[in-house]
Amino acid sequence: MNSNGEYEFDDQNESSLWEKLGFLKKSRSFATKSIHMDRKFEEFESSSTLSLINLTSTYKLFEAHNPTSYQYSRFGNPTRNNLEKCLASLENSKYAVTYASGLGAQTAIISTLKKGEKIVVDFDMNFDSIRLFKNFTGNMAMELEFVDFSDLDALKNALKENTKLVWMETPSSRTMKVLDIRKISDFVHENLPTARVVVDNTILSSYLQRPLEFGADVVVYSINKYVHGYSDVVMGSIAVNDDKVHEKLKYHQGAMGIIPSPFDCYMVNKSLKTLSLRMDHHMKVSYKIAKWLEKQPQIEVVLHPALQSHPKHDVACQQSHGHSGVFAFKLKNPENVENFLKNLKIFLKVESIGGFESFMRRAEKVEGIEVDGNLINVSIGLEDADDLIEDIQQALDGRSEGSNGDKLEFY
Ligand SMILES: *Cc1c(COP(=O)(O)O)cnc(C)c1O
Repeated sequence: MNSNGEYEFDDQNESSLWEKLGFLKKSRSFATKSIHMDRKFEEFESSSTLSLINLTSTYKLFEAHNPTSYQYSRFGNPTRNNLEKCLASLENSKYAVTYASGLGAQTAIISTLKKGEKIVVDFDMNFDSIRLFKNFTGNMAMELEFVDFSDLDALKNALKENTKLVWMETPSSRTMKVLDIRKISDFVHENLPTARVVVDNTILSSYLQRPLEFGADVVVYSINKYVHGYSDVVMGSIAVNDDKVHEKLKYHQGAMGIIPSPFDCYMVNKSLKTLSLRMDHHMKVSYKIAKWLEKQPQIEVVLHPALQSHPKHDVACQQSHGHSGVFAFKLKNPENVENFLKNLKIFLKVESIGGFESFMRRAEKVEGIEVDGNLINVSIGLEDADDLIEDIQQALDGRSEGSNGDKLEFY
């Protein structure tokens, strides 16, 4: 109620929850930019409110040797350019470049290195990225070392003259490990000015964290997770401020042929317009469920950066505007994990995060890297919070086999 005794809709309430938890203030104008930037960049004269889609693979040259005009779609496409400008505006970066997948974006970055040069990676990383690093850097005669970036001495030992990339995923998709982007970036730049810091920001998106603002050099995304969120596109992207790094990465996009299709670019550009709305829901529901889970007698631990109990809650607050729908937890009795997962009715057991559908599964094992196989990874989608809680409750209670009038029967 305001001072005149009238009820007012308080649209700041939700963002102030995150501020009260200690996170950075909500990014101003993010939603407005996501909706209107598109029109600003579009290269065609048109009164349509959505930017146009251009599927052309090859272009007519009006003058020979004009390097700025479109020639062949692998090297440039107006729909793709438009999306890249929109992504850069949301990241507050000078440039964004899109690729055929998140791993395609990572391949483009790795390929900036030469034979004998070294990549240092924080070991708490998603399975697919680890497989890419392990299987291909050796073939390209590069050096690779996994370390724990929360140990700066270990990181310092790994930084050799030939180290060119220092790579981390924060928060990590597996264990919700949070690394201090500012501290690590400054440390690397002081000790080895020629090395570049790469942050995989897939778990939060530019709505919740913008690593370039904390000293990182390159940000990498699997776009199909939160940024797109509609589970029907595979795409990756990078964001950078440095002109030279951008030039190389842009060249690799076309010369290595790791491009997304113009149609997919159009789809992603459209879904940017609901990114802040979707994230607000993922954030709210995942926090609610994490808080609820913490109180259940069958649960040993909940790993969610917005919880006070998270060991790096303060670091998450310093560098992000809140936390998304991805988190992890452990049951007290590891023998119950299989049954618990089997009993779930709404949560899918598929390999996907950041979409509209909720999912849960055991943390993936990675060869040579210790993972607690009893850890359960969760991605909260866009369903109703109470239905998700009810589903987890019945799976914890092991009630699912009987037909006790349960209304959550979807599969
Ligand atoms: C999915 C994922 C990737 C790989 O991206 P693709 O688009 O599947 O190639 C990289 N990093 C993180 C954190 C991911 O979740």
